[in-house]
Amino acid sequence: MNDQIPIETYQLGTTKCPVCGFNISVYLHVYRAPYGERVAFITSKCDNCGFKYSTVLTLTTDLRYNCLRLIVEKPEDLNTILYIGEDAEVHIPALNIKLSSEQLAIGSIVTVDAILFYIIEHVKNICTEGTTDTKNCDYVEELESILQKGEVKHRLEIIVKSENGVGIIRSYREKNYEVC
Ligand SMILES: [Zn+2]
Repeated sequence: MNDQIPIETYQLGTTKCPVCGFNISVYLHVYRAPYGERVAFITSKCDNCGFKYSTVLTLTTDLRYNCLRLIVEKPEDLNTILYIGEDAEVHIPALNIKLSSEQLAIGSIVTVDAILFYIIEHVKNICTEGTTDTKNCDYVEELESILQKGEVKHRLEIIVKSENGVGIIRSYREKNYEVC
């Protein structure tokens, strides 16, 4: 690689340091490799104990779909890393809600569990205002407590649409998404 400067860097979120339990940030750096391929590194470093982690990903998947249906059935589906273009629409049929990526304030690279937590926050806020079906309020409360344990109880579908492209950067299980 001649060019050592990443073309894109994103903060994916935070996680607990496996050594000391301190909150650490996880970053994704995208590099351009020869022959038009793109390579990404996920890195994190603990400021408290110095623990370092990095892993290399090859971005071979097409990042330019316009609609993806994500299927959340197994715990590993929560770790799917997604690219979402601007002005995306996120639809959860089970909750009968459609939200824009702007409303959710999600970045362009997110994990499935981050999307779900953003949606849960959003629905909980509406529930506090009392302007939605209480069925949804009970549903997200249950969903939140299951997700906090890193578990999945009910099959859940998330439909993400964007004219500017949607793609899977990293998936940990085959057939956990469909092009729509
Ligand atoms: Zn640490």
